[in-house]
Amino acid sequence: MSNVAREPHGANLIAGERVVGTGASWHAIAAAGGAKLPGSFRDADDDQIDRALRLADESFDSFRATPVAVLEKFLEQIALEIEALGDALLQRAHEETGLPLARLTMERGRTMAQARMFAQVVREGSWVDAVIDTALPDRKPQPRPDIRRKLVPLGPVVVFGASNFPLAISVASCDTLGAFAVGCPVVVKAHPSHAGTCEMIAEAILSAGRACGLPAGFFSLVHGKEHGVGLALVRHPLTRAVAFTGSEKAGRALFDAAAARLEPIPVYAEMGSTNPIFVLPGALAERAENIAEGFVQSMSLGVGQFCTQPGLLIGVRSPEFSKTAASITEKAAKIPAATMLNAGICAGFHEGVAKVRAIPGVQVLTPETSEKSSATPVVVKVGARTFAANEALRHEVFGPFSIIIECDDLAEMLALARNLNGQLTATIHATAAELQEHATLVRILERKAGRIVFNGFPTGVEVCAAMHHGGPYPASTHSFFNSIGSSSLLRFVRPVAYQSFPDAALPLELQASNPRGIVRRVDGRVDK
Ligand code: NAP
Repeated sequence: MSNVAREPHGANLIAGERVVGTGASWHAIAAAGGAKLPGSFRDADDDQIDRALRLADESFDSFRATPVAVLEKFLEQIALEIEALGDALLQRAHEETGLPLARLTMERGRTMAQARMFAQVVREGSWVDAVIDTALPDRKPQPRPDIRRKLVPLGPVVVFGASNFPLAISVASCDTLGAFAVGCPVVVKAHPSHAGTCEMIAEAILSAGRACGLPAGFFSLVHGKEHGVGLALVRHPLTRAVAFTGSEKAGRALFDAAAARLEPIPVYAEMGSTNPIFVLPGALAERAENIAEGFVQSMSLGVGQFCTQPGLLIGVRSPEFSKTAASITEKAAKIPAATMLNAGICAGFHEGVAKVRAIPGVQVLTPETSEKSSATPVVVKVGARTFAANEALRHEVFGPFSIIIECDDLAEMLALARNLNGQLTATIHATAAELQEHATLVRILERKAGRIVFNGFPTGVEVCAAMHHGGPYPASTHSFFNSIGSSSLLRFVRPVAYQSFPDAALPLELQASNPRGIVRRVDGRVDK
């Protein structure tokens, strides 16, 4: 196991080859202190982007034909290669992002588990969603032909990771691994805020690919500090789909660029959210202190740099609610200043907070600090009418920032819920009886959020089959799809129906004897 960080070579990795970009040279910057880190990077140029996508497209037919056992081994090998990077990976990620080593160690475990999860999905095989309606030659008034449908991969996928998960939502994200699992080649745009970490993970993926004899073009990594690089990847005619995690601004720019193509393609953008928490009076009466404690932990976790960070706490005016707000303020004020992921995110946090502070009717509860190179939790309080009247309060301020919203009564709380933007998550703190009594709130939140949490907190997204990490716009651009967990692969496939095909010419998953032994729906019944 290597524990010494080697200097990044800084080149793009195009189909396994190191190709130095021709754009301006730049350095990764230490999140803490802003020093230049070892290694310089250069943006990919248009020819290099074109080469990455052409080679991805050329490799597609052979990559998608990879035998199941080899693909499974490849995904497992990725986990081993990441582990073999040892502490050097954690150290580089720590320097680039400022995230603590303990958190990065956990995130590395999650990333390896993601690779193993997709290996298992490949082995099990039912993701192809095979549906068979056998021929009914004697049906009147006309016979039914034999129709068999399954999902097939789309082709080259472009992936953009986010700055706040340099391992689990970056080069080896569920985006990349899910695309591999279905047989799509991937071109990743490295995140400039952790470019060295991206390079190390990319090398691990390439090494796993070599060990399994995969075609060279199945994976490329390109660098780009200029947004033109990302846009060129999205606009390239051979790109079939884009998976993006990051801010609403960038996600929307890429979505619009894809929609403006001659042949539009899907951009699955997972973006920010304010993740409202509704606190009903019965829950407050039972455990106000507990809710205050959990809320502060969740809103300040990782310096608030989670897409599921709870940015809104909504309750009905009462002495208990005021006491809870006071307790939240007291706890939040004790949390020391911490380094954010990069200078841009830190500046964005302070600008966002300043904008909110300037809105009449906003009461700032936590003490103000003049220190602008780090962040401390900021909690403000508004009435529901002020919230409703100010569009700026509905947008994510990325970092440890939350708004406590006081409603006159439960009717006002429901009205507020109805007017929320789309969300990744919404949370309800209530007694079991209240949850039943206020089922309307649940019905409203089903229309707003991808995940509804009961008596918990939204941070901490389990990577599993049942997870839904997405939501109505602006949480994501396609609310049907998920970006964390095994169902994330559904973004990179489309159905094909085969009509009246001879059995031997059908894909294995659709043949009569079910040689892969997968779960299928045959003539309306689940069959194995
Ligand atoms: P970001 O600023 O949107 O950056 C994401 C990627 O997009 C980077 O590679 C960035 O490159 C690129 N980019 C930014 N603006 C662009 C543009 N106009 N055109 C083309 N490319 C562009 O987001 P971030 O700072 O990495 O991450 C923080 C955000 O991600 C927060 O809003 C957070 O809520 C969200 N997030 C969402 C999820 C989720 O699952 N929904 C998970 C984690 C984070 P540059 O750095 O060079 O601009």
